Amino acid sequence: MKCPACHGSDLEPKQLETGLIAGSCQQCDGALLSLINYRFWAQNSELSNEVNEESVSVDVPEATEEKAMVCPKCARLMTKFKIGLMTANQLDLCSHCDEAWLDQGEWRLLKQLELHGQLPKIFTESWQRNIRKERMYNLVKQRYVDMMGDEDFDRVEQFKQWLDQHQSREDIKQFLVTSYD
Ligand SMILES: [Zn+2]
Ligand SMILES: [Zn+2]
Repeated sequence: MKCPACHGSDLEPKQLETGLIAGSCQQCDGALLSLINYRFWAQNSELSNEVNEESVSVDVPEATEEKAMVCPKCARLMTKFKIGLMTANQLDLCSHCDEAWLDQGEWRLLKQLELHGQLPKIFTESWQRNIRKERMYNLVKQRYVDMMGDEDFDRVEQFKQWLDQHQSREDIKQFLVTSYD
């Protein structure tokens, strides 16, 4: 089975972790991971998150805006899934074969983000929706921070958190927008 990323060499079995085998490409160091194998491993390993010094700063090649990858097993197009806002890297999944493609360094990135124990979560609509929501929030937030500065924005944000949990929040909002002069 040829590497779906670089097409340069065949995928060879390689241990990502003890008991977790993926089809790895010698040339680009990407890995094809069967989610069936992954689930079995995740259930049976203790997932001690040995974040060692070397993984503190993970050197992951910058993700590029590439076109969809073709699944090396079934030749269908794979779908890209964002990992999170903290990284531009995306994982590819063939939902037909339940195989995920990890580019070089992405397994270590997942470990660093402590997501290596919950890989399938990334491939859910709710995970992806949350990332979009967070990104929207950050965009809106940035606009207000630019307008009023960090310090004032912090105060507003704290007030908003308090307000959102207040049982009379609608009345308080009403009070805030009512002019009495
Ligand atoms: Zn490759
Ligand atoms: Zn496939």
